[in-house]
Amino acid sequence: MAKVNPDFSVELKKFGGFDLNACYNCGNCTAVCSLSTEENSIPRKMVRYSVLGLEDELKVSIDPWLCYYCGECSETCPQDANPGELMMSLRRYLTSKYDWTGFSGLLYRNMSAYVISFLLIIIGIAGLSISNVFSQEEWLHYGHYLEMLAIAIVFAFILLPNIIRMWILMVWNKEKKFSIRKHFLSLDVLFIHMFTQKRSLSCKDDRDNKVWWFEHFILVLSYLLLLFTTVFLNWFNTENMGIIVLGYIFSGIIFVVTIDFILRRIKKKKEKSTFSHPSDWFFVIWLMLMGFSAFIVRMLIDFSVLEKYFWVYLFHITVLIQWAIIIVPFGKWTHFLYRPFAIYFNNIVQDTKK
Ligand code: SF4
Ligand code: SF4
Repeated sequence: MAKVNPDFSVELKKFGGFDLNACYNCGNCTAVCSLSTEENSIPRKMVRYSVLGLEDELKVSIDPWLCYYCGECSETCPQDANPGELMMSLRRYLTSKYDWTGFSGLLYRNMSAYVISFLLIIIGIAGLSISNVFSQEEWLHYGHYLEMLAIAIVFAFILLPNIIRMWILMVWNKEKKFSIRKHFLSLDVLFIHMFTQKRSLSCKDDRDNKVWWFEHFILVLSYLLLLFTTVFLNWFNTENMGIIVLGYIFSGIIFVVTIDFILRRIKKKKEKSTFSHPSDWFFVIWLMLMGFSAFIVRMLIDFSVLEKYFWVYLFHITVLIQWAIIIVPFGKWTHFLYRPFAIYFNNIVQDTKK
C-alpha cells in the first residue's frame, strides 16, 4: 500500500517556490505541456504525488527529469501554483535522495550551509597563502594536480555511488534482475541526451526560439573542453600556441554565455527565470567566475606578470575548489548527469515491457 506523508509539501517547499495548496487538479498544466504523453502525464502526476506526499513513488519517478522548465504550465496555471517550479523543486529533492552523503539536501535546504562551506575554502586558501607553505611555482604545480585529484575523488566517491543508488531506485527495484544487453543497447540514449539535451527542443518555447538550447549546448561543450584543456593539456603551463588559443576560446565562451544566463535571471522575462533558488545563482555565477578567472590567469602568464598579480591565481584556485567539491557533486551541476541517466534507466525499464 502507498505510504502517505501529510507533511511532504512542507518538506518539499524547502527545495523551491511553488504553491501546492493552490492546485485544484484542473489538468491545464498537462494539457499545455509539449512533453506530456499518455504514459507520462507531465506535470500533473507529479503535482498529485506531491500533494498526497507519495514519497516512495516520487523517488522512483523519471518525470521530473523529463521536464526542461520551459514554464508553459506555470504561465497558464489558473491558480498560479507554479507547476514548472514544482518540477524543478522535485529535481532538487531527488538529487538529495540520490546523494548518500546527505550534503546535497543540507545545501539545498539551507543557504547558510553553502556560505559556510565557501568561507571554509576561502579561509583554507588564504591561510596557506599567508603562511607561505608553497612558493608560486609550487602553487601552479600542485594546483594542476589538485584539479585531477578533485575530479577523481568526486567522481569515484560521490557521483558514481549516487548514480548506483539512482539505478537501484529506478531499475533494480522495478526489474529485480540485471541485463547487460539492455544496459549496453541503451547507451546511445545516455550520451545523446547528456550532450545535446535534444528532448528540450520538443518544448514549444525552445522549438520556436533555439537560442537558449544553442547557448546551453555550447556552454556544456566549452566547459568540458576547457576541463580537458586545463587538466589534461596543462593549459596554464603549456607553450603550445594551439592549446593556448583553444583555452582562451573555451573560457571566453563560458564567460559570455553565463553572463547572458545571469542577465536572464535578473530580468525575469521568461517564466523559467522568474524564480531562482540560491543553488541556481551559485551554479551560474561560479561557472562565470571560473571561465573569467581562467581567462585572466592565462593572460597574466602570457604577459609575464602573473608573479606580480598572483592573487588572481589564488582567486581562480579558490573558485575552482569551491566549484569542484561543492557545486559539482552536490549542486545543480549534478543535473547534467542525473537527467540523461534517468532517461537511460527509463529506456532500460521500458525495453523490458516491450
Ligand atoms: S498546477 Fe495549476 S494547471 Fe496544474 S492541475 Fe493544478 S491548478 Fe491546474
Ligand atoms: S515546465 Fe514545460 S516541460 Fe516542464 S512540466 Fe511545465 S510545460 Fe512541461
